[in-house]
Amino acid sequence: AMHQEKDCLFCRIARGEVPSRKVYEDDDLVAFHDINPAAPVHFLVIPRAHLVNLYDADESQAPLLGRLFGVIGRLAREQGCNDGFRVVVNNGRVGRQEVYHLHIHIMGGPEPLRSGR
Ligand code: AMP
Ligand code: ZN
Repeated sequence: AMHQEKDCLFCRIARGEVPSRKVYEDDDLVAFHDINPAAPVHFLVIPRAHLVNLYDADESQAPLLGRLFGVIGRLAREQGCNDGFRVVVNNGRVGRQEVYHLHIHIMGGPEPLRSGR
């Protein structure tokens, strides 16, 4: 839509227009705690750029996507995921994506994850 970036929740969080508990931010990326955590530590990492999901990504975004994955390990450790963590990216209807701005879930914490496979 024409006003996608204007109205997108995660674009608004990235711009600071909607409050969030930020974990990290730089020129390209923002990380913030999930408002409805599914694990003792659960935060999201997003590109500031509005990519809808991985259907919207191609090799031209490889440097950005590389940076995105490149900060996760450090942030996970800083947030207390010292014994492993899970990374999830939900895409589209079948992936049960709720917010249509690409985001990576990082889920872990000091305790073992109970829910899951
Ligand atoms: P999904 O699109 O299925 O990967 O899920 C979107 C995630 O965003 C869910 O885990 C929500 O709890 C989370 N979420 C929704 N609104 C906010 C918000 N305002 N701040 C932080 N997390 C949010
Ligand atoms: Zn957006």
